[in-house]
Amino acid sequence: MAKYNRILVKFSGEALAGENGFGIDSEILKFIAKEIKQLVEGGIEVGIVIGGGNIIRGVSAAASGIIKRTSGDHMGMLATVINAIAMREALEYAGMDVRVQSAIKMEAICETFIIGRAKRHLEKGRVVIFAAGTGNPFFTTDTAGTLRAIEIGADAIIKATKVMGIYDKDPQKFKDAKLLSKVTYDQALHDNIRVMDDTAIALAKDNALPIIVCNMFKSGNLYKIVDGGDLSSCSIVKN
Ligand code: UDP
Repeated sequence: MAKYNRILVKFSGEALAGENGFGIDSEILKFIAKEIKQLVEGGIEVGIVIGGGNIIRGVSAAASGIIKRTSGDHMGMLATVINAIAMREALEYAGMDVRVQSAIKMEAICETFIIGRAKRHLEKGRVVIFAAGTGNPFFTTDTAGTLRAIEIGADAIIKATKVMGIYDKDPQKFKDAKLLSKVTYDQALHDNIRVMDDTAIALAKDNALPIIVCNMFKSGNLYKIVDGGDLSSCSIVKN
């Protein structure tokens, strides 16, 4: 398998929280920075999308009935900006050149998303962190990540998770759960494989964007997959 030249890595907000389950764990940030640096030093162009679940999700914010779903989603998108700024700091601290581009204009804090500008940054070896999701309520950051991956012409979206990939059954509950090395988009949509929400998978399918699901906590794993093209310990969703 050939190496990927330009990728989009999607981290969930929860991943940043570490053991605490809330907020941002600086040790996790340092670890992620090390993993991303390996990619950048390998000449790979890296875009990043981070969720906001470690701070707030629109659906949960709206559950009380006091906050409208659209407002909850605005709060969720702002949470992703908080995470993006933290990630930018961690990557810069580790010596990388980084830009944050937000889907919602906030010029005192970061750039606004512009495809051409994002691509230019990537070509120059800068990591681009795409913040504020798609800028619209009722979407997820998985969909935002897929959308940005397609827009920047990434070779794949990497969904960085706590597990190795997609299993035939829940590996937390069943000891004999098997890792599926390849799943089609239709299987992912119809077999209720919760790898990403349906909107994200449908968008990836329409644009033939491979989705790679892998364990982000295994040191060197991202590099092995992206630079070495070694897909033996992860799952890929494609046709
Ligand atoms: N969100 C949104 N539009 C988007 C992306 C995200 O409204 O395009 C909001 C939504 O409320 C979501 C929250 O931002 O719950 C955080 O994103 P997500 O739940 O995808 O984060 P993750 O689960 O990856 O941490």
